[in-house]
Amino acid sequence: MDVRIEPTNIALIGQEIAIAWNDGEESFFPLEILRRNCPCAVCQGEADVMGMVERPERHFVEGSFELKSIQNVGGYALQPLWADGHSTGLFSFLYLRRLSAELLKKQ
Ligand SMILES: [Zn+2]
Repeated sequence: MDVRIEPTNIALIGQEIAIAWNDGEESFFPLEILRRNCPCAVCQGEADVMGMVERPERHFVEGSFELKSIQNVGGYALQPLWADGHSTGLFSFLYLRRLSAELLKKQ
């Protein structure tokens, strides 16, 4: 059976987003890391998750790592709206899980 991985709860705790998943896992994403791994074409170019490939240079400004809101889009992704106005990044649930695993490896 193909079990769809979905968030059951999303909470902003300080400077981190905490996501509880329907398979019992929990992920924590510091906002800055989430923004730096924004998967949209503008931010990522040809890059891989967590900087395995050099990414295009980006300029972060005040508000870049500040979250205004986050929406569940189409039941497969989260779309954050950042305080600097950037909102084109669709973080698919699978992408978030992969990112979460990468963050754990780095600790
Ligand atoms: Zn982006």
